[in-house]
Amino acid sequence: MANKENYSKQLEQFIEKKQSENKYPKLLLHACCAPCSSYCLEYLREYFDITVFYYNPNIMRSEEYHKRVEEEKRLIAEYNSQVDSADFTGMNSTNHARKINILEGNYDPKIFLERVKGFEGCPEGGDRCTICFEMRLEESAIIAKDNDFDCFTTTLTISPLKDAERLNRIGREMGDKYGVLFLPSDFKKKNGYKRSIELSHKFGLYRQDFCGCEFSRLQREREKELKENCN
Ligand code: SF4
Repeated sequence: MANKENYSKQLEQFIEKKQSENKYPKLLLHACCAPCSSYCLEYLREYFDITVFYYNPNIMRSEEYHKRVEEEKRLIAEYNSQVDSADFTGMNSTNHARKINILEGNYDPKIFLERVKGFEGCPEGGDRCTICFEMRLEESAIIAKDNDFDCFTTTLTISPLKDAERLNRIGREMGDKYGVLFLPSDFKKKNGYKRSIELSHKFGLYRQDFCGCEFSRLQREREKELKENCN
């Protein structure tokens, strides 16, 4: 059996190389929500000029989408005010931390629904999610290429429910297709997921209990119901 790749180590090696050259690459960071972004931004803002790309047409309910995008903006504003005041109390940050921009992608859930047609009934983690990852990473690659970013990646690998191997494979494919570097990552490693929960509490972030699409929300409802009935 082939050895599993260590995406977290690969990212560290990339950062070390760029730091030795005194470079701060322009990174387009696809983000799914503020809680997942919290650790990724705390970590990466030391080494990159980051623009967060909020592109998630998979969030089918408009109210939910807007709630999440506003939380993302609020978190970035909090982080940027830390840089302005050079006050990083309670953060794993130094005065090398840089300010972060945000770019909101096109929000049209019809795009998602068309792409996942026929896969609506898949369980979370199945083929519907592969299509959803492809949709979001393809758009990220296009935007990164069109706007002269040095590289792109996604916060999605922080989730213990998401397959880092699949996300990194798709990211590389999209990077190759559009001619822009995809940065490997597995943000859940090095206690990244644990830190994202601490930061979510610190900033009082809204933490949804389902992934994003209506299918995942209904699945979560069924799981909760089953649990209650079994207690
Ligand atoms: S469960 Fe999450 S990753 Fe999977 S299709 Fe729905 S929104 Fe996309």
